[in-house]
Amino acid sequence: MLIMKELKTDVVIVGGGPAGVSAALILGQNKVNVILVDRKSKDQIGNKHCGDALSPVLTEKIKLKGIPSPRQEDLCAHVNELYMCSITPGAELKVRNRSATVDRHTYGQFLLEEVEKHETVTVLSECRMMKPIIENGAIVGVEGREKNEAIQIRASVVVDGAGTRSNIRKNIPEDFPVKFDRKTSKVETLTSYREIIETSKASEWQEALYLIYEEEAPMPGYWWIFPKGKDRLNVGLGFLLLPSNKNISTKERCQLIRKRSFPDAKVIDGGGDLIPARLPLRSCVAPGYIAVGDAACLVNPISGEGHGPALWSGIYAAQTIIDALKKGDFSEKSLWAYNLSVWPVFGVEHSMGVAVIKFLEKGSFEDLDFLFAKKVIESSDVEDILSEQGTLSLMKKAFRGIRKPRLLLRLRKTLKLVKGIQKMAKSYPSSPEEFEDWNNKLSKILS
Ligand SMILES: Cc1cc2nc3c(=O)[nH]c(=O)nc-3n(C[C@H](O)[C@H](O)[C@H](O)COP(=O)(O)OP(=O)(O)OC[C@H]3O[C@@H](n4cnc5c(N)ncnc54)[C@H](O)[C@@H]3O)c2cc1C
Repeated sequence: MLIMKELKTDVVIVGGGPAGVSAALILGQNKVNVILVDRKSKDQIGNKHCGDALSPVLTEKIKLKGIPSPRQEDLCAHVNELYMCSITPGAELKVRNRSATVDRHTYGQFLLEEVEKHETVTVLSECRMMKPIIENGAIVGVEGREKNEAIQIRASVVVDGAGTRSNIRKNIPEDFPVKFDRKTSKVETLTSYREIIETSKASEWQEALYLIYEEEAPMPGYWWIFPKGKDRLNVGLGFLLLPSNKNISTKERCQLIRKRSFPDAKVIDGGGDLIPARLPLRSCVAPGYIAVGDAACLVNPISGEGHGPALWSGIYAAQTIIDALKKGDFSEKSLWAYNLSVWPVFGVEHSMGVAVIKFLEKGSFEDLDFLFAKKVIESSDVEDILSEQGTLSLMKKAFRGIRKPRLLLRLRKTLKLVKGIQKMAKSYPSSPEEFEDWNNKLSKILS
C-alpha cells in the first residue's frame, strides 16, 4: 500500500524563488501558517541562472513593505548607465539607469533564513509538487513527492511560485474552468543562457549594463553584458522560441559571443532557462489558487527582468490572502483583488515590451540602427519607460523626419498597441463577472 504523508496548513507556497519567499515573508510577519516547498535541496534554494540585474530603486521600495534589501555581501556591482547597442558602431543609446547586480544565491538564501525566523512558516526542501488537488470546485492543496515519499499538502490557498514551467498551473485539469492559459506558448517564451566569466584584468564593461542587438541573438532577441564584481562579467543572450529559431542553441551562441568578445576569459559558471515574454496571465487567480512571479508571467518582455516583479507579486499575493483569511473566503471572487494589484502595474509596465517584440519580430537590425541613428528613439524615451511611468513621450515625436513609410506605419501600430494595452491594464475588471468582456477586448487589441 502506498504510504502518503499528509499535511494541512493555511497557505502552501510552491517554489522558494523570489516570488515564493516574498509571499512567505509577509505571511510569516502576519503569523499565518505557511508551508513553503521547493524541489531543490535547502542550500540551493535561491540559486538561479540569471542576468542578476536587480534595481536598488525597486529593492528600496519593497523594503518598506517588509522584504529585506540585498546585504552588502549580496551585491556584486552598482551601475548608473544602460547602453542599448545595435550592429553599427555608434548606433547606441546611453540611458541613465541606476541598477545593480546581485548574487542570486546568497540573497535568496538570506531571504529564506528570514522566512524561517517566523514560527508559523515551515520550509520543506527536496519536495517536488506535481499537481493541484481539486475538490468541490476549488484547488485545496497540492501533491507530489518529498524525497521518495508521496506527500499531500492541503491548504486554504495554494500560491504557485514554481516558475515558468510550473507543474501546478500546467496540471490543472481541463474540466476545472480557469481564466488563464495552463501553458505558456513557445512563441511567448524566451530561451536564454548565460555565463559568468572572469577576465584577466578589469574591463570597460564593468561600468554599465549593456544590451546588444546583433545577429547572434536572432530577432527579437538580444545579448547582454552585465558587471558581476571585480574582473567578473555576466554574459548571456535570450531570444524567442519562434519556429524559425528552433535549431539554434543558446549555449552555443553564448559561447560564440564570449569567445569572440572575451577570448582569454575563464568561465566560472554557465546555464540557462526559459523566461515568459508576454503580458501577465489574463487572470492570476482561481478558487484557492494564486500564481506569482514567472508562474504568472510577470517578467518584463523587453528586458527579461522578472526578479523585481516576482518579489512584488509575492507581497501582493500575501496581502490578498491575509484579507481572504479574515473573511474565510478563498473563492475566485475573494482572491480577485490580486489581479487588481498586478494588472494595472505590470500590464502597464510590460506593454511596451510586448509591443516592441511584435515590432522587432517583423523587422531587421537595420531598422533598429535607423531608429537609434535618426534619434527616433532617444535616451529620454527609454528612461521614461524604465522609470515605470509607462509614459509615451515616444508617441509624440516618433514620426518626425521619417522617410520610410513602412517603418513609420509599423511604428504607429506599435505605439497604438502600447496605448491600447495600457488602457486595458488600467481598467482591469473589478470582478470575475466583468472579465469576459474585458478579455475579449484585450484579445482583439492584441490580434
Ligand atoms: C538566463 C536568465 C537571465 C535572467 N536575467 C534577469 C535579470 O538580469 N534581472 C531580472 O530581474 N530577472 C532576470 N531573469 C528572470 C528572473 O530570474 C525570474 O523572473 C525570477 O527568478 C522569477 O522568480 P520566481 O520566484 O517566479 O521563479 P524562480 O526564480 O524560477 O523560482 C521558482 C522556484 O520554484 C521551484 N520549483 C519549480 N517547480 C517546482 C515544483 N514542481 N515543486 C517544488 N518546487 C518547484 C524551483 O526550484 C525554484 O526555486 C532572468 C532569467 C533567466 C533564465
